[in-house]
Amino acid sequence: MPSARPSLALGTAECKAAPVGQDAAVTSTRTGPRSVADHRAVVASLVAPQPEELVPLARARGRVLARDVVAGVSLPSFANSAMDGYAVRAAEVAHPPVVLPVGADIPAGRTDVPPLEPGTAHRIMTGAPLPDGADAVVPVEATDGGVERVELRETPLPGAHVRRPGEDVEAGAVVLRAGTVLRAPQVGVLAAVGVADVPVRRRPVVLVLSTGSELVAPGTELRPGQIYESNGPMLAAAVEEAGGRAELLRFVPDDVEQFLGRLADRVGAVDGGVDLVLTSGGVSAGAYEVVKDAFTGRGVEFVKVAMQPGGPQGAGRLDGAGGVAVVTLPGNPVSSHVSFEVFVRPALRAAIGHPHPDRAAVTATLGERWTSPAGRRQFRRGVLDAVRGVVTEVGGPASHLLGALARAECLVVVPEDVTELAEGSAVEVWLLDA
Ligand code: AMP
Ligand code: MG
Repeated sequence: MPSARPSLALGTAECKAAPVGQDAAVTSTRTGPRSVADHRAVVASLVAPQPEELVPLARARGRVLARDVVAGVSLPSFANSAMDGYAVRAAEVAHPPVVLPVGADIPAGRTDVPPLEPGTAHRIMTGAPLPDGADAVVPVEATDGGVERVELRETPLPGAHVRRPGEDVEAGAVVLRAGTVLRAPQVGVLAAVGVADVPVRRRPVVLVLSTGSELVAPGTELRPGQIYESNGPMLAAAVEEAGGRAELLRFVPDDVEQFLGRLADRVGAVDGGVDLVLTSGGVSAGAYEVVKDAFTGRGVEFVKVAMQPGGPQGAGRLDGAGGVAVVTLPGNPVSSHVSFEVFVRPALRAAIGHPHPDRAAVTATLGERWTSPAGRRQFRRGVLDAVRGVVTEVGGPASHLLGALARAECLVVVPEDVTELAEGSAVEVWLLDA
C-alpha cells in the first residue's frame, strides 16, 4: 500500500453534510459485533431526507409525492353520458315504447350542446356533455337507433347512465396525499385533474464504486484468476429500484491511490452533489483491503455486524470530502446485495419519504431443516410457494452464490439466537419483489 494517502480534493458545496445522528455512535464503547439494528440506524442517519423537486408527469412514475395534490377540476368535471344512447327527460319515457324526434347529435368533445327541448331526445355518445333539461340516458341497445326520430323501448330511472360532476373527485379536494408512490393509476389521476408537473422527493444520488484487482469488464476476455465485475451493476440497479439515482463508477483495482483518485474525480463532478458513496469489496480481514486502508481514520468506521452474510461493514462521513456519506459493503456478491437490502435500501427509501421503507414481510413455513450460527442474524435466500406458504432455500448459505440469489424470491430471516430450525418452523420472510 502507498504510505502517503492521496487526499480527496472534493468541493464542499456539492456535498450534503448533515450531521451524523446520535445513533451513529451507539456501539463505540462495545467490544462485540454491532447489532443489525444499530448498523441500520447508523446508515439511516447518513442519508438526509430529500428536498422536493418538480418533475414532468411523464417522468414521475415510481417517485414519491412530496406534498398533497389538490384537484384543480372535479372528476367528472361536467355531467356526461356513461353510454352511447339518447339523452331524455326520464318522465317522458314513462310508458314505452315512446317515439321522439331527435333534436341534436352530441359526440364526445362537443362544446356547444343545445338544451333538450321538451318532447325531444338528443343522440349522445359516451363522455359527451349531458344537455340542459335531460336527466337520463337511454342506451342505444334499448332503442331502434334512429337518427331523425327514435323509438325508446325502456324507461330510464332519473339519473340513469349519467355521470355526475364530482362523483369521483371534487375540485379543491386532496386527490393524492404526500408520501404516495406514483404508480400507473396515480399518474393517471394526476393527468386527469390537469397536473403537468408533480412535486416529488428528489432522488438521492449514489456513487457506486467496486474494488478488486481480479475484476474485469464484460466484453474483455478473462485471464486465469479474473472475474467479471458484477457488484457495480447490481448495486446501481438496486439503488435505482430503491428510488435513488445511481452513478456507476464501475471498479478500481486494489490500490488506495487509484481508489481515492477515482472517487475524488467523481464526487465533485456530479451535478447536484452526491448523497452517498457506496463501495463494495476491500473491507474484510485480508491483506489487500483497499477500502479499509483508504478510509480508516478518515471518518469511516469499520465494524463487524452480527449478521450473515455481510459481517464486515463500514459507514461514516469522509473527512476532507465535504463530509460525504460513505457506506462500504463487503465484496462477495450475495453479501453485497443482502447488506444493501438490510441497510441501504431502507435508508434511501426513508430519505425519499417512502411510506414503506422496508420490504413486505410475511410469516412462512420452512419446508426443510436448517441449522444457523449462534449470535448472527442470517438472511438466507429462498423461494416461496405462495399458495402453501412454504419456503425453501435456493442454492445454499454461502455468499458467492449469485446465480442462486438471482433465482431467489425472498430473504428468510433467522434470528441471532436461533441455531436450529425444524422442518415446519414458522420463519420471517422478506418478499424481494413486493
Ligand atoms: P473482498 O470483499 O474484496 O475480499 O471480495 C470478496 C469476494 O467477492 C471475492 O471472491 C471477490 O472476487 C468477490 N468480489 C468482490 N467485488 C466484486 C465485484 N465487484 N464483482 C464480483 N465479485 C466481487
Ligand atoms: Mg477485493
